[in-house]
Amino acid sequence: MKNKYFNITKENFKWPSILIIIFLSIGLWRYFDTKNFFYVINFGYIGISLSLGTFLGDSLKKEYSQWGRRITQLLVGLYMLVFLGLIGKENMQIEGFFFYLLMGVFAGASLHYAIAKIFGPIVFGRGWCGWACWTAMVLDLLPWKKPQNGRIKYLGIVRYFIFIFSLFLVMYILVKNKNMQDVISTQIYWLVVGNIIYYLIGIILSLILKDNRAFCKYVCPIPVMQKIPAIVSLLKVEIEKDKCIDCKLCEKNCPMDIKLIDYKNENKRILSTECILCKTCINVCPKKAIRVTKGFDFAFKEKLNYANRTV
Ligand code: SF4
Ligand code: SF4
Ligand code: SF4
Repeated sequence: MKNKYFNITKENFKWPSILIIIFLSIGLWRYFDTKNFFYVINFGYIGISLSLGTFLGDSLKKEYSQWGRRITQLLVGLYMLVFLGLIGKENMQIEGFFFYLLMGVFAGASLHYAIAKIFGPIVFGRGWCGWACWTAMVLDLLPWKKPQNGRIKYLGIVRYFIFIFSLFLVMYILVKNKNMQDVISTQIYWLVVGNIIYYLIGIILSLILKDNRAFCKYVCPIPVMQKIPAIVSLLKVEIEKDKCIDCKLCEKNCPMDIKLIDYKNENKRILSTECILCKTCINVCPKKAIRVTKGFDFAFKEKLNYANRTV
């Protein structure tokens, strides 16, 4: 089907169907294990949200295709933050994860981190960051979608300090508190306060650096975990050399400042663990030369654009 807004082919149903099957399977696995039907609803909802965004992203005309991803971000991000977090009183922030981990409790946050941030990235890299994060759901609506100046070298080290700080903070609270019930009941305050701080820092940094994803590049502690399994990520972006005309539009529009052309010139897929699988490069390519492909490869050297380097 073809019209002003859509170009729908059979191929566009492939990934949405795979996503629904994967997420429903996880929901059913948890249901048979716990007899709690909520898991089927939860994972079914997330699967449908991802499928819808993927379908729209692939079916909408170039100029609208990013809306597929944004719709998924809003559907999953709001669900996790408002429904599971604020209403369900589950702290999905990194402190909540550390808390449950150190207490030896298998909670919703543990499952979420296992799927989105620890084991899942072996398959889909940092796809969570491109498609579902509730912080980026807001940051991606800001006006600086295309980074203007490249990354600030070494500033990314801040995320490692935040990671260690969060871990020690949780350890300190656990050691200091005699009444664990009090700590559990304050989870919701942690979630609210933590998110307000993250949103504020994220928006202020975007404003100062004119870069929507500045918070992701320098401050957020989540990539400290994600970047290790993402090294071997099965799904990565790839440029077909034969089709590419070196216009560099992909590189100029990449929100994570990745040197796509360098990877292409070395006959490699985009191996950077900074890639969030947002598909912006795919959407802007005038030659349809970029695809998401499957493969086993990895690289430890990041190829990123830094400030003062013209693309
Ligand atoms: S880096 Fe952090 S804030 Fe950015 S998308 Fe990933 S998890 Fe969200
Ligand atoms: S946008 Fe497409 S054609 Fe242009 S450099 Fe990137 S891959 Fe090549
Ligand atoms: S390389 Fe492409 S998919 Fe990866 S972050 Fe950059 S624009 Fe997004």
